[in-house]
Amino acid sequence: KAAGIVVPFDGTGSLADGTELPLFANVGGAADAVAAAVAGAEGVGLFRTEFCFLDRAEAPTVDEQVAAYRGVLAAFPDRRVVVRTLDAGSDKPLPFANSEHEDNPALGVRGLRIARRSPALLDDQLRALALAAEQEAALVDVMAPMVATVDEARDFASRARAAGLPRVGIMIETPAAALLAAELFEIVDFVSLGTNDLAQYTLAADRLLSELGDLNDPWQPAVLRLIGAVGKAGRQAGRSVGVCGEAGGDPALAPVLVGLGVTSLSMTPRALGRVAAALAQNTSEQCREAAEAVLVAATADEARAAASAVLSR
Ligand code: PEP
Ligand code: MG
Repeated sequence: KAAGIVVPFDGTGSLADGTELPLFANVGGAADAVAAAVAGAEGVGLFRTEFCFLDRAEAPTVDEQVAAYRGVLAAFPDRRVVVRTLDAGSDKPLPFANSEHEDNPALGVRGLRIARRSPALLDDQLRALALAAEQEAALVDVMAPMVATVDEARDFASRARAAGLPRVGIMIETPAAALLAAELFEIVDFVSLGTNDLAQYTLAADRLLSELGDLNDPWQPAVLRLIGAVGKAGRQAGRSVGVCGEAGGDPALAPVLVGLGVTSLSMTPRALGRVAAALAQNTSEQCREAAEAVLVAATADEARAAASAVLSR
């Protein structure tokens, strides 16, 4: 189907054999969340909370944060909403969190690493989220961006649970986290693959440089093998593995991700219809076969060809 054409979405994601797969939306605030609900998303798989505060010189107060988070929760009553703590830094600097100059901001103090300098910023956000959840009578899943070690995950999980947020996850967007997935599943309840950063850090290629777009490609076999390792660890631990990077909204890749062990996909709402249509054409068995084929591919082009030889369109 031509890019840009919106394929209608009836609100459920399922494979050709009836296996259901929740399709969630990526949102940056209440207006996005309302639009995502109208588009039929089953919930929110990634709420990028930093988008609420991009133009702020000072950190938002707890009350301001509660208001911003309630707006998103209210759009999805009784649905899963995965809220990511501030992913400040690198391509999304926040003046109140990233005041120091860094020569390599993508490798610097971004995401969860901000809590090393300003633990109160993270604790305030967790408190605001717990308050927003209470006031909306909602269950919130909270996850941290840019986790690289088991110690970071442990610290985040204990802060989140202490704040009254029982369902805790992390994003897997560094190769280190992908390789430690089994150990991370002992600490957190779920993970979500941030394939944009996972590709950037695996291929060591700046995601903002279009000149390196061929490297920043989730079809790169090294990225697919890391995703496969996380999917396998998730299956063994009986935990959910989401994808919330752009790869989750790619109709050609979505069935492959499912075959690799991914249990939910989150994407820009306009991709929901196309991804649902692609999943509906393929059985679990086809997804698994496509996954096996891409795991032995040597190049991104070979991976694409191997998947399309197995999958129906
Ligand atoms: C990602 O890295 O894939 C992701 C979803 O996070 P962001 O694009 O906000 O860095
Ligand atoms: Mg990211």
